[in-house]
Amino acid sequence: MDKRILVTRSSMPPMEEYFEMIKPLWESHWLTNMGKYHRQLEGKLKEYLGVNQISLTVNGHMALELAIQSMRFPKGSEVITTPYTFISTTHAIIRNDLVPVFCDIKDDFTIDENKIEELITENTVAIVPVHVYGNPCNVDRIQEIAYKYGLKVIYDAAHAFGETYNGRGIGTYGDMSTFSFHATKVFNTIEGGAVCCNTKDEYEQLYNLKNFGIRSEELIVSIGANAKMNEFQAAMGLCNLKHIDEELTKRKDAVKLYREKLSGVKNIIINMYKENMTPNYAYFPLLFSCEKKRDLVYENLMEHGIFSRKYFYPITSDAACFKNKYKSVNVNKARDFAKRVLVLPLYSGLEEEEIVKISDLILEVLEK
Ligand SMILES: *Cc1c(COP(=O)(O)O)cnc(C)c1O
Repeated sequence: MDKRILVTRSSMPPMEEYFEMIKPLWESHWLTNMGKYHRQLEGKLKEYLGVNQISLTVNGHMALELAIQSMRFPKGSEVITTPYTFISTTHAIIRNDLVPVFCDIKDDFTIDENKIEELITENTVAIVPVHVYGNPCNVDRIQEIAYKYGLKVIYDAAHAFGETYNGRGIGTYGDMSTFSFHATKVFNTIEGGAVCCNTKDEYEQLYNLKNFGIRSEELIVSIGANAKMNEFQAAMGLCNLKHIDEELTKRKDAVKLYREKLSGVKNIIINMYKENMTPNYAYFPLLFSCEKKRDLVYENLMEHGIFSRKYFYPITSDAACFKNKYKSVNVNKARDFAKRVLVLPLYSGLEEEEIVKISDLILEVLEK
């Protein structure tokens, strides 16, 4: 076992399956522009995710950026969001000429719904929360607040592919939800993403935004970017979707073994899933009692060729490009958690003995 272990490894279908799938493209020469596979994958995902409408995009970031753009908020409006996320979430807000207002998180790493109302001003137009590590945001309370103040809710569900909460697909909550199908995510289309929405009209608006507003050869109805998913991506998605159940089961087993090895250990907290939640086991985070212990474990693993990740660290409001730029609110818990969190390697091909080795290396540091 002297190979390097990275925090994640992209799932790939058997090579022949993918080759069979892309072969016809050499006959049709139809490589993109909402081809057969793009449309097939939209249909299959709509069903798998249990959503009303889904629009596939070139990546997860553009899914979120276009979802926000489709709501046509006035320039300079405020959007309440979490800093405990991948930088993409915050960039998507700012690149839409909107102002992020950072709200702190709670113990489950998701936005603290009890702190949202105090951040609402007359300029607030939306809430952009993020589902984190298999923990759903408090979708019911967030929806109540949104109704009360007339706000839109757009979930960054980039991590949450295939998860259900209270028997509903996670992508059905809020006005829109976006997924990432990046190579490092549970389900990948190499690069890719999707926006889930409720109405046909929203679907059409997203279509225009991802395809230059072009409806036919001579009809351009609105201003749009280019953010379409191409046929090679969609083909990868169709292949990977065939294996998704097996993929999720293997991840679940890996998490089970990590838990067996690490639960009850002093100085770490293991993420617990909510009742009524079906997680996808995308990440296995540990929360350490202090930054020093986290860093020691990180280094010990690295010395043995194992690459865990401080994820999410730093919080997005502390990113060099945003520091001191936006209203400074209290995001102490998010900042504190970011300093103490470590995401362990987790993917479907991770071997049992590798999990045991990783766990032992962690115990070695903590028991010193
Ligand atoms: C991965 C990710 C994104 C961006 O998705 P890409 O497909 O990489 O563009 C956005 N938000 C979160 C929380 C993510 O983890």
